[in-house]
Amino acid sequence: AELAALVAGASVDVPDFPQPGVVFKDLMPLFADGAVFRQVIDGIVAHHGAGSFDVVAGVEARGFVVAAAIAYATGAGVVPIRKAGKLPRKVLSASYALEYGEATIEVHEDAFIAGQRVLVVDDVLATGGTAAAAMDLVERAGGTVSGFSVLLELGFLPGREKLSPRTVHALLTV
Ligand code: 5GP
Repeated sequence: AELAALVAGASVDVPDFPQPGVVFKDLMPLFADGAVFRQVIDGIVAHHGAGSFDVVAGVEARGFVVAAAIAYATGAGVVPIRKAGKLPRKVLSASYALEYGEATIEVHEDAFIAGQRVLVVDDVLATGGTAAAAMDLVERAGGTVSGFSVLLELGFLPGREKLSPRTVHALLTV
């Protein structure tokens, strides 16, 4: 509850971004506040347990910030899941539907050692398309998804249901 209040207090609603009618939740103020950022990262680590994962996979771009901090705090490694065309070596790709059009994310095909336990993180869970594709990529690349965390879940969208039976850990659901 305390962590939920911290996330609530450090997020800013931006109307009509990136398009009219959408209220974007900006978490940059949370990242910019050192004390809040540390408590949020420690809260995610405490939820999963520091020994429950070997690698943290973060989704470009805000997921990188979260993933790197968790990894450094726990001695885990970091694997980036990137937008199409950014990774330099052989990749696996996953595409998913957006409201208009399609998005593709990628991971290096050799990013994980077989059976490595992977904590997947992002800043916000909305429709769940990105998270579903990210977890699919991790498993196709030989990792085992050990958990999934976001700082903020948009509870009025069906992201959690889309990811079922995988469980979603969110510090705050709005
Ligand atoms: P989804 O695929 O669940 O619809 O969207 C989640 C992805 O889009 C995440 O990578 C997240 O960073 C981004 N996203 C969608 N809506 C928001 C939002 O309101 N705020 C932020 N910070 N990111 C969002």
